[in-house]
Amino acid sequence: MTAVDALVAAGRRLVEAGLSPGSSGNISAREGDEILVTGTGAELGRLEASSFSRFSLDGEHRSGARGSKETPLHIGLYRRDDAHRAVVHVHSPHAVALSCTEPWAAHSAIPPLTPYFVMRVGQTPLLPYRHPGDPALGDDVRSWPQPIRAALLANHGAVVAGADLGDAVDRAIELEEACRIALLTAATTRRELDPRAVRELAERWGSPWSAPTLD
Ligand SMILES: [Zn+2]
Repeated sequence: MTAVDALVAAGRRLVEAGLSPGSSGNISAREGDEILVTGTGAELGRLEASSFSRFSLDGEHRSGARGSKETPLHIGLYRRDDAHRAVVHVHSPHAVALSCTEPWAAHSAIPPLTPYFVMRVGQTPLLPYRHPGDPALGDDVRSWPQPIRAALLANHGAVVAGADLGDAVDRAIELEEACRIALLTAATTRRELDPRAVRELAERWGSPWSAPTLD
């Protein structure tokens, strides 16, 4: 499967999962020292070869369509970790809703309520609000001091990295589900996972989770 075919398939999966309301969102994949990213206005459910734009990891436009204004956000995740080979940015409803509330903790906007969130996504901080397309969003995600594969952008949406496009889409779906469950349980006396259980899950699954520090 070519990178374009994988991007087209990933776009369809995001739409089918309900993560691209109003044709919002953008996706990218890394190829060598370049990335292929959806162009401005591309609809994730109707991507084709001409939908994409090629950028260097320095943010220089190399060829193709005019790149999404969120390209710096994608590049920020690629530059912080070579293991990030695909990035998904969505305005999925539950992630957006949770991004409009106070974060659960500094290291993760989303509490550890289910093992799957900890195993498949890991800590997901809330990055401060900036207007869509602000290049500083890329700096924020690149310089976040703890290990991350995903973040919420305040009052905006979510960004998720994966080892490939399938992995990034799976993770975006799991993140949306974790946000939905956090909202569903927000008004209840809910039971979070025990910190020791969280640490054990994170260690076993190689998932990022920094705090709290335990004996
Ligand atoms: Zn956006």
